[in-house]
Amino acid sequence: MKSHSDVVVIGGGIIGSSIAYRLASEDSSVTVIERDSIGNHASGYALGLLNPTNETSHIESLNHQSFKMHKEMLDIVQEESGVDAQVLTIPHLELALEESELPELKKEIDRINGFSEFNSTWLEPDEIKKLEPRISDDVYGGVLIDEVIILDSYNLTLAIAQAAEARGVEYVLSEATGIIFEKDRAVGVKVGDEQITCDAVVLALGPWSGASSLWLDIDVPIVPQKGEIVRVKGFDPPLEVHIHGFTLGSSCSVVQKTDGATWLAATVQDGSGFDTTPSSEALESLSQRAMRMVPGLESQQLVLQTACMRPIAPDGDPIIGKVPGKEGTFIATGTGGKGILLAPVIGRALTDLITTGETDVDIAEFGLDRFSTD
Ligand SMILES: Cc1cc2nc3c(=O)[nH]c(=O)nc-3n(C[C@H](O)[C@H](O)[C@H](O)COP(=O)(O)OP(=O)(O)OC[C@H]3O[C@@H](n4cnc5c(N)ncnc54)[C@H](O)[C@@H]3O)c2cc1C
Repeated sequence: MKSHSDVVVIGGGIIGSSIAYRLASEDSSVTVIERDSIGNHASGYALGLLNPTNETSHIESLNHQSFKMHKEMLDIVQEESGVDAQVLTIPHLELALEESELPELKKEIDRINGFSEFNSTWLEPDEIKKLEPRISDDVYGGVLIDEVIILDSYNLTLAIAQAAEARGVEYVLSEATGIIFEKDRAVGVKVGDEQITCDAVVLALGPWSGASSLWLDIDVPIVPQKGEIVRVKGFDPPLEVHIHGFTLGSSCSVVQKTDGATWLAATVQDGSGFDTTPSSEALESLSQRAMRMVPGLESQQLVLQTACMRPIAPDGDPIIGKVPGKEGTFIATGTGGKGILLAPVIGRALTDLITTGETDVDIAEFGLDRFSTD
């Protein structure tokens, strides 16, 4: 490990790696401390869907900005790293599985068509059957969006990390155990028995971000939320549309990825702590929900079931920016189910803040200070 870097990033998931990549592109020297291996948690096991259209809250504009950045960046990081992120551009079909969903879903067409990079149309049940005959007959229609992106989130995280290394970033596989402050300015990070000095520290610990509360003496209110995904054998010929719907009390995606498997995603379970054991309940519920949309899944053999954790803040929004009251200390977490999508824009916002003290990415609402009780 080097004795000094301009910036030390703690956490080598997609968020930490995207920040490191962007900082290195701006000529900062960067060390990433990762206690496990690259992309071994949610960043490596996510569905890998990049769809900025399915969120209407105040995070919508960040989602769209980041989607555009992905499109600009994907070829570059794959080329620089030599890692294939298995990028697939496919249509997205939002199914109306209940008649009561029709009015709200039909309104979506105009909203989505308001974004220049997307085209959306309404499909009647017979048109859905023509598009994909394996979709259930028992649907009321659906919103078709011409193209979203689905990729392999592990490969993408690895591609960004290796592209960052190619630009001089040092990855150290060890645990960060604290930040060294002089007065209230971060000047280094403790790594096992060693330490590295720096001018800025970025906390990108994903669902473990709460552990940094002790280092900062400020509450970082992030908890893990368990999410499971089931992969079954792919269809031949493959499904060529990302299918999504709300059924049996929750949402579900069915998509055949370039690894050949069909992915059924995902569960949302709060209160499980850091447990990542795949459960029979998740297998049952994902299978039932997916088969409601694509009945032929019943005969597809199970390939793999995975569980990992989303980092969640109390209000569900990300935490991005400076740590209040601590100079040279920055945080990026709380990305929930959107961290793969949000990684490029977060990388840019943090790089701007660290290198120039300001950013034109609109992160004003996402500061850690919104949880302050003072
Ligand atoms: C089931 C599921 C499906 C999802 N699907 C999608 C999707 O389709 N699209 C999308 O945009 N998002 C999706 N997400 C969300 C996305 O996966 C996360 O928001 C994102 O991966 C979070 O990235 P991260 O880098 O913050 O966290 P992580 O990937 O958890 O990485 C944090 C890293 O910090 C390291 N770390 C922690 N503490 C320390 C320490 N003290 N020292 C050193 N290292 C440390 C950990 O080892 C870990 O590698 C999904 C999430 C789940 C659970």
